[in-house]
Amino acid sequence: MRVLHSPDLLEKLQILAGAAKYDVSCASSGTTRRGGGGLGNAKGYGICHTWAADGRCVALLKVLFTNKCVNDCVYCACRRGSDTPRAAFTARELAELTVEFYRRNYIEGLFLSSAIEKNPDYTTENIIAALSLLRREHKFFGYIHVKAIPGTDPTLISRLGLLADRVSINLELPSARSLALLAPQKQMPALLAPVRQIYEESAANQAERRRFRSAPKFVPAGQSTQFIVGATPDSDLTLLSASETLYRRFALKRVYFSAYVPLNDNPLLPALSAMPPLRREHRLYQADWLLRFYGFQAGELLDESQPNLDTELDPKIIWALRHLHVFPLEINRASPEELLRVPGIGVVSARRIVRQRRFCALNYDDLGKIGVVIKRARYFITCRGKYYGGIPLKPEIVRSRLLPPPAPAFYQPSLFDGAGSARDE
Ligand code: SF4
Repeated sequence: MRVLHSPDLLEKLQILAGAAKYDVSCASSGTTRRGGGGLGNAKGYGICHTWAADGRCVALLKVLFTNKCVNDCVYCACRRGSDTPRAAFTARELAELTVEFYRRNYIEGLFLSSAIEKNPDYTTENIIAALSLLRREHKFFGYIHVKAIPGTDPTLISRLGLLADRVSINLELPSARSLALLAPQKQMPALLAPVRQIYEESAANQAERRRFRSAPKFVPAGQSTQFIVGATPDSDLTLLSASETLYRRFALKRVYFSAYVPLNDNPLLPALSAMPPLRREHRLYQADWLLRFYGFQAGELLDESQPNLDTELDPKIIWALRHLHVFPLEINRASPEELLRVPGIGVVSARRIVRQRRFCALNYDDLGKIGVVIKRARYFITCRGKYYGGIPLKPEIVRSRLLPPPAPAFYQPSLFDGAGSARDE
């Protein structure tokens, strides 16, 4: 194996894969491409990621192009002032490494991020050279998710978008004040400029492809971003409001939240001994799910008087406890939008309820069979006029019934936890 036997390249890989592990925005989805006689297929379901036990998405080949950086963001392991080994791939090294890994079935795609070596244009040109080799010389049709660097010339962003499936620009911090504090070389307008460009070019590309099906796809899996959680005093309300704005104004596919892992000793940052706020990250993902699929708005879940999510109960239950005056809802009459507000009823089960009650009124026993999580929903519904909660509908009493049992000592919250997951509600 010519490429992987190079000790120099192995060392680079070690450095640059290690430096990429704090980037969580790496789920692959939403694009389909068939390999036209070349290597690989991109599929609509995830192909270049796996899920770690703590719910993080881990790409099988997830690397930085370089960890040499001209910026000095306080929270970052790659910052200019950090005493860390540095490395950079050449375009050909990265392309061949990806193909060698693909041929050995180690990976099905590439997640490529980068620090900023020399300047954004220089780094982006190197990345484009690597992706061009992959797509054109190696005929690699697998999934590629690449980071775009704010400040890059728009023509380079356009070229990048024609090579990658997904592009993300990590905003990292949700407010101009936090950026000024921890990442003084970054300004919000400059960070948002490529986000806007990708949004506008994607819309134009979709229109063009409706007229000419053979037109090349521009960022077919859309764009995403990442926020660091817990490095600054920014509240969950600030993070969710920023996410909501990004979904609405720029049609982002995903906003990822990354619990801050203390790496640097700096008075502006949480202490090195601080634990990453994984439970907070988990609640933010649940709230994000409510924004995207349940018709909630950030301002309904949080406000200035309560700017942070409850860590004990999921955000949908908390919303319901604050709005008990609208409950219990009669399951046979509630609108689809109302059903989605009931803890324990998810998108799929709401759809099934609406479909089945067209034929006959549902019984309480039917609900479990169609996917309703009865242990949560029972306090918020009536069925054929009967209330099955068995307790007075008072916030403190319902809350005490819904609190999860004490977690074991090494409990690690996961996106796939049955209890409290927004996905199955
Ligand atoms: S620009 Fe990116 S890689 Fe460079 S120090 Fe800031 S966060 Fe780290």
